[in-house]
Amino acid sequence: MENSCLFCRIVAGEIPATVVHRTATTVAFRDIDPKAPTHVLVIPVAHHANVIELAADPAAAADVLATAAKVAELEGLADGFRVIFNTGEHGGQEVFHVHAHVVGGVPLGPMLARP
Ligand code: 5GP
Ligand code: ZN
Repeated sequence: MENSCLFCRIVAGEIPATVVHRTATTVAFRDIDPKAPTHVLVIPVAHHANVIELAADPAAAADVLATAAKVAELEGLADGFRVIFNTGEHGGQEVFHVHAHVVGGVPLGPMLARP
């Protein structure tokens, strides 16, 4: 737990969040500023700054992906969805506790606007 980390504080229950699913190693909660009808963030309980650090902890990485799949099932996203890890400055990452965005609920259009 890093006291200065927003998402560690959500894990600890110090900052409220709408949790949709929780396991021993992951927490899934609704994004405060949803970009689609379903927009859930999946995080590991253990603090890893980004997906590169997460990849060095294969068990945690697998748990995050399994929880993302579970969220898609719980949210009824059988028609499809996206899982996004924004990483670093060019990736637009704003919170440096790794999180998978699970977005869906409508056709999401082209994968990216051209930069
Ligand atoms: P990033 O840009 O780092 O990939 O995404 C950070 C996400 O965290 C954004 O989509 C933002 O809306 C969300 N977010 C930021 N602060 C909070 C918060 O306090 N609670 C919740 N639930 N989401 C947050
Ligand atoms: Zn953290």
